[in-house]
Amino acid sequence: RHLHVHFPIRRGFFGHSAGLLRAVDGVDLDIEAGRSLALVGESGSGKSTLGAAVVGMQKPSSGQIFFEGSDLASTGADRSAARLRDIQIVFQDPVSALNPRMDIGDSIAEPLAIHGVGTGQERRRRVAELLELVGLNPAHANRKPNAFSGGQRQRIVIARAIALQPKLLILDEPVSALDVSIRSQILNLLFELQRQFGLSYLFISHDLSVVRHFADRIAVMYLGRIAEVGATTDVFARPTHPYTEALLSAVPLPDPVAQRQRQRILLEGDLPSPANPPAGCRFSTRCPIAAAICQELSPELNLLGRNHQAACHLRAPPVGIKGAT
Ligand code: SF4
Ligand code: MG
Repeated sequence: RHLHVHFPIRRGFFGHSAGLLRAVDGVDLDIEAGRSLALVGESGSGKSTLGAAVVGMQKPSSGQIFFEGSDLASTGADRSAARLRDIQIVFQDPVSALNPRMDIGDSIAEPLAIHGVGTGQERRRRVAELLELVGLNPAHANRKPNAFSGGQRQRIVIARAIALQPKLLILDEPVSALDVSIRSQILNLLFELQRQFGLSYLFISHDLSVVRHFADRIAVMYLGRIAEVGATTDVFARPTHPYTEALLSAVPLPDPVAQRQRQRILLEGDLPSPANPPAGCRFSTRCPIAAAICQELSPELNLLGRNHQAACHLRAPPVGIKGAT
């Protein structure tokens, strides 16, 4: 709720503050239990910072993060062990996520050992069970990470992330570093684990085509704010924010005729710096339909339909103003 994560920018010999980097700048989002929310946007939009805040690796500047009713943000670094167990994170790069000198079984058992779960023998049994769950051979627990392919290593990382039976997984670009040919295998595994254990996912991705068949809902993030959020089917069928439209225009269509007729919307310019965001609508410097009001007033998220919201003065005016003459 109203989540902000700002970083002071320090410059010069004395490291005096030279402003604020507004990585996350007023975000309201809900993740339903047992469902997947995809958080999509360009790199630099604040997605990873938001995920890090939810898992407790990044302290919010203000706002709240409610998990099962209690506010994680206010407790900051003193989060209880139980909560630490409930929320786990999987990063993009499975190579740097695993200690190359450690048997993969020990890596998977590490969170169990840290939290003092089970005896050594019970942990070994749990590791075998976890390896089987992620589709790897339990007999390979004593091998080192370099004995495995990239996709297999991400399976190992996932096994470690679910070792403590968490309720929420933050998946930060979990398939972006993998070969296209094995992405769908990892997505299927995540999907299967969700079905089996009722896991909730915050799936961070810069690629809308990856989340299309995976996420129940999509939130599009731009420069620290949510531009549009809704059921995946609604966002794909009725993209409303001009930024969502541009992102979607880059997603290949299965029908070659439709693909040929489709206009790719190319955005001009780069993502502005989150240290110096444009006044009014954050997207106004790149928006193909920006009007005068856009440079003056920051648009709020307004309801478009059940569970579908966008923040755009022209496309999503507040209810009651829509259609006014
Ligand atoms: Fe574009 Fe204006 Fe809508 Fe922002 S508010 S997305 S600048 S039309
Ligand atoms: Mg990132």
